[in-house]
Amino acid sequence: MPLASVYPLISARALARPFTYEVPPGVGKGAVVSVPFGRSSRRGVVVGLEPEAPAGVEPLPVGRVMDELPPALVDLALWVADYYGSTPARALELVAPRRPARRKEQAPPAERQSLGGEPEPAELTASQRAAVARVAAGIDEGGGLFLLHGPTGSGKTEVYLQACGAALERGRGAIVLVPEIALTPQTLGRFRARFGDRIAVLHSGLTEAERRDERERIASGEARVVVGARSAIFAPLHGLGLVCVDEEHDASYKQESDPRYDARAVAAKRAALEGAVALYGSATPRPESWAALERLRLEERLGAPLPAVTVVDLRREAGYPLSAPLLAALGRIARDGGKAILLLNRRGVAPAIHCRACGATRRCRNCDVALVLHRDGALRCHHCGFAEPAPELCPECGSPELARLGAGTQRLERELAERLPALERLRLDADAVSGPSELAAVLRRFREADRAVLLGTQMVAKGHHFEGVSLAAVVDADTALALPDFRAEERMFQLVTQLAGRSGRDAPGRVIVQTFQPDARPIVHAARHDVERFLAEELERRRELSYPPFRHLVRVLVAGPEPGDVLRALAELRERVGDAGLIGPAPLLRLRGRHRAQLIGKTEQPRALASRIARLLAAAAPAMRRAGLTAVVDVDPQSL
Ligand code: ADP
Ligand code: ZN
Ligand code: ZN
Repeated sequence: MPLASVYPLISARALARPFTYEVPPGVGKGAVVSVPFGRSSRRGVVVGLEPEAPAGVEPLPVGRVMDELPPALVDLALWVADYYGSTPARALELVAPRRPARRKEQAPPAERQSLGGEPEPAELTASQRAAVARVAAGIDEGGGLFLLHGPTGSGKTEVYLQACGAALERGRGAIVLVPEIALTPQTLGRFRARFGDRIAVLHSGLTEAERRDERERIASGEARVVVGARSAIFAPLHGLGLVCVDEEHDASYKQESDPRYDARAVAAKRAALEGAVALYGSATPRPESWAALERLRLEERLGAPLPAVTVVDLRREAGYPLSAPLLAALGRIARDGGKAILLLNRRGVAPAIHCRACGATRRCRNCDVALVLHRDGALRCHHCGFAEPAPELCPECGSPELARLGAGTQRLERELAERLPALERLRLDADAVSGPSELAAVLRRFREADRAVLLGTQMVAKGHHFEGVSLAAVVDADTALALPDFRAEERMFQLVTQLAGRSGRDAPGRVIVQTFQPDARPIVHAARHDVERFLAEELERRRELSYPPFRHLVRVLVAGPEPGDVLRALAELRERVGDAGLIGPAPLLRLRGRHRAQLIGKTEQPRALASRIARLLAAAAPAMRRAGLTAVVDVDPQSL
């Protein structure tokens, strides 16, 4: 019997190695098998054949062959394990998820959840044609990485559709990744209208049984285009020719639990392993993609031009959260009919103070990020740990009008109800909407309403096509700018630009941004729709501060019951790692009663640094366990 190297799917780090088993002839890399392990049997993945057993090992035969994965997925999983510092078994679980038992037949989820799509346009624009041709040539040449950029509504989705068509014509399959929240009935409807039954969908809203059915349709070759969120990058599609990553700037592509992979990086790796093209698209690309990828540009918006953006200077306008210009614009809708979207950053607001007279927020001089107000009254940098007492007077202008950010937004809903009772209020955030069907219901309600305002978190700025929206407003731009993360500016820019793209899809819309910092770079450039200028300047700033894409970041976060233990563990770790550019430890805000702090490494070799840190943490594990400490290492973290 042939021998094979098998990783049993066991999450314990101590058992993170392959074991040798006998396999039936014809079973090779990518087979998912049941293996005897200890006293029980486990699922395992064959990662390769072996000429002979290691000395002293008497290999047992594997049990049943349960599944066959494309062999490239095994290499992909092992790469994920290595790069993100996870274990092979945990990464292999991503490509070989457990299969629940079969149940009754049901229409595929794409059929039940999609809205009618749009017809194929009679003719592509010249820039769409050029983009599709370049992608098709890339598939023929054995791969490539491209960035498709152009304003919202410039026809990017049509390019994905045509590029998928080009892959299918060549006998290859395609994966289309969309942010979880953008996986709307509209998006599915467009793909379904074009590709019918050849579409499969994968996202977290599916039941296990639905997921199983979709995976089977993909593995059997019945479905050749997979549309899905982050984890769809691991779909068992054979003969991949193309991966599209829609809204490539979206932070939801990063998984925030082990394995902490970034589906965008995994897409590039999978494309390279399979000779496929990866096509990243966005109206607001990441600086990382702008710097690294071959750009394919869609010149202009089809249909209505981009709306005018009005920046309301809250230093001069009273009434926050409903300034006079915003109130007037909403009043017109209440009177004449129409729809508005109001964006609030209610979740994830970092407590920070800002000056209502000059607009300034205190920033760290080393790291150029906003300082966070801690309970002890100190303002702290979450990158390097710098701290200063919170001032009584604004250090910039001497005004005593220092205020906690975001305080006014809680009142927004109440004030809307009081002042504009004629407007129907609909909420769209993670508290109000928990699944795809609720989301669809809110969106339908909004579509059918005749005078309504949709209040929401970032969710509203993404991926939805709303018709008849004449006003979109960012209520509190300052809370987003005050996030203690070097990507705060990038996120703010994306938010305003994306929101502007949402409004006025079929009628010239209007966008209002309320802020105490009207001169902030992301707001100035977003107001002019100047994506390229923003990216050029942002890259310059990143270069000076050695942020991505000029260095990779590795983040080590330790949490525990005692603040002293947390800081000591990180300080020791930093000492042992030595001169590798680790900054911190920076104490963070407490979370669920646990004290937290982090170290940040800026490095050209993230894998080497991360594995050095992982070894040191493993050595310190017993002492850390005694102190109740937990540690997380995050390679290329997307939120800090
Ligand atoms: P994006 O993905 O950049 O937001 P879409 O692909 O959704 O843009 O296109 C915006 C709108 O323009 C859609 O309604 C789409 O059907 C339409 N559209 C796309 N390409 C063309 C074209 N070549 N001719 C006419 N209409 C088009
Ligand atoms: Zn001031
Ligand atoms: Zn700092």
